[in-house]
Amino acid sequence: MALTHGQDELTIHPLGGLGEIGLNCMAFKAQGSTVLVDCGLMFPEDYLFGVDVVIPRFEHILAEKDKLKAVVLTHGHEDHIGALPWLLPHIDVPVYGSDFTLALVNAKLKERGIPADLRPVKPGDRVEIGPFAFNFIPVCHSIIKGYALGIETPMGRVLHTGDFKIDRNPMDGHMTDMDAIRRFAEPGVKLLLSDSTNVERDGFALTEREIMASLREIFDKARGRIIVTLFSSHIQRLQEIFDLAAACGRKVAISGKSLARNIDLARELGYLRIPAGTLLEVEETSSLPDEQVVLVVTGSQGEPLAALSRMSLDEHRQMRIKKGDLVLLSSRFIPGNVLAITKVINRLYKLGAEVLYEKVQAIHASGHAHREELRIMLEAVRPKYFVPIHGEYRHLVKHSRLAVECGVMPERAMVLEDGQPLTILSQGIRLEDAVPAERILVDGKGVGDVGQSVLKERQLLAGEGMVVVLLVIDKETGEITLGPDIVSKGFVFEQQYAHLLEDAKCVVMEEVENAPKGNIKKLKERVRMALRRFFRTVLDRDPVVVPLIIAI
Ligand SMILES: [Zn+2]
Ligand SMILES: [Zn+2]
Repeated sequence: MALTHGQDELTIHPLGGLGEIGLNCMAFKAQGSTVLVDCGLMFPEDYLFGVDVVIPRFEHILAEKDKLKAVVLTHGHEDHIGALPWLLPHIDVPVYGSDFTLALVNAKLKERGIPADLRPVKPGDRVEIGPFAFNFIPVCHSIIKGYALGIETPMGRVLHTGDFKIDRNPMDGHMTDMDAIRRFAEPGVKLLLSDSTNVERDGFALTEREIMASLREIFDKARGRIIVTLFSSHIQRLQEIFDLAAACGRKVAISGKSLARNIDLARELGYLRIPAGTLLEVEETSSLPDEQVVLVVTGSQGEPLAALSRMSLDEHRQMRIKKGDLVLLSSRFIPGNVLAITKVINRLYKLGAEVLYEKVQAIHASGHAHREELRIMLEAVRPKYFVPIHGEYRHLVKHSRLAVECGVMPERAMVLEDGQPLTILSQGIRLEDAVPAERILVDGKGVGDVGQSVLKERQLLAGEGMVVVLLVIDKETGEITLGPDIVSKGFVFEQQYAHLLEDAKCVVMEEVENAPKGNIKKLKERVRMALRRFFRTVLDRDPVVVPLIIAI
């Protein structure tokens, strides 16, 4: 579908992030030019067997790629930059973002050998792109150097908040610049697009200062080693940990590739200052007394290959948990990972460690605005139209209701979903035809080839296992010359069920005998059906049956 753009139209087209937390990506179109804001991925839920990542569907953008003028990034989290490696090879446009955001993008692209035109912008910069001008406004979030975007368009001003919270008492300048937002909103804002993640949480998010105070108390009391895990891009929290360690006479060692990389990037740009002599190699800490050691490790989500998980299994090459260790999970439990994280926590206790996490102590603060902060944003911007972004469907609905409470006319607080473009006219709005927005699954080098039918097969294999029947028959006589052999995976414990598999062979032989000769395809189908029937009857199980029948 080609949308026509008059002089007096602005179309926003969400490709992802409206209906899920992840995949954030939105196209802005006016006067024949398109700018993409964010290009994020999502990590698959458990039921997407073997799928590595999920990315938005770019077809529509690529079909009109001569119109695309730039990609503008709000911040460096994966749900905002992670899909770039699947978009940039197909297009040649500049990518704008803060220096830290682009450093993360650059590291990601370099790994894959993808070239890109990365253009860092500073807070307060105004960049003209086609009929748009983007103003970059600093926001406070769980990653440093994020921006809200004040977008001047032919149809008036649009504010895209990116991911944000309002820290009322910010440290080290990590603040949401509400003054800049108010200044941008002064001439009137046509449309506000705002982060909906925490609309269900009342009040205000904890501030980083409160987290710091809580961590300080813990550091002061701890007598053994302190082992901290957190999101590896949370540079501000890392700074706090380095500062506290130095203040308590502790040394810090880092374990985990993503942590080491992000720390290097942040230090290079001057965003992380490590007190002299505080950072050691992991090996160097073994000669220090326990009360002088802090280990910062990856694995806050229970990832099986990350340092913390391997330590909890006592399988880490360099680090072993011991009695007296205090482990701090200074991060959110992402809902899909709760089980994995809880297992790690239980294993850490088994090894004699004490574990603190968000639920038992204030050692993590969300990076997303709670309800009262969302209200402040709405009241500061006072938009004519409101579209909630960055949320599951219920978050979007609740955020649109909050907008109405804050003075937006009910018919102008719109809940859009991925693939539903909205056009703003000089008078009123128009909902465009929806554009397919099913997400694309990436498994290894295959992009989009794993569809519903492959997933269904993987689900069956995982649920009931597989039985392979191998059989060679004589082309002339139809007699069995080899087999049948039966091999199963994930179906039954073969030794225990040897008799059952023998019976299954008889079922196969019977089918071969009774089947009309010469039609292998039909025979395969008969064998498959007969075995499924047999397993259903005797075991009440329905494995995937694969007959390999060869006629020679
Ligand atoms: Zn974020
Ligand atoms: Zn996000």
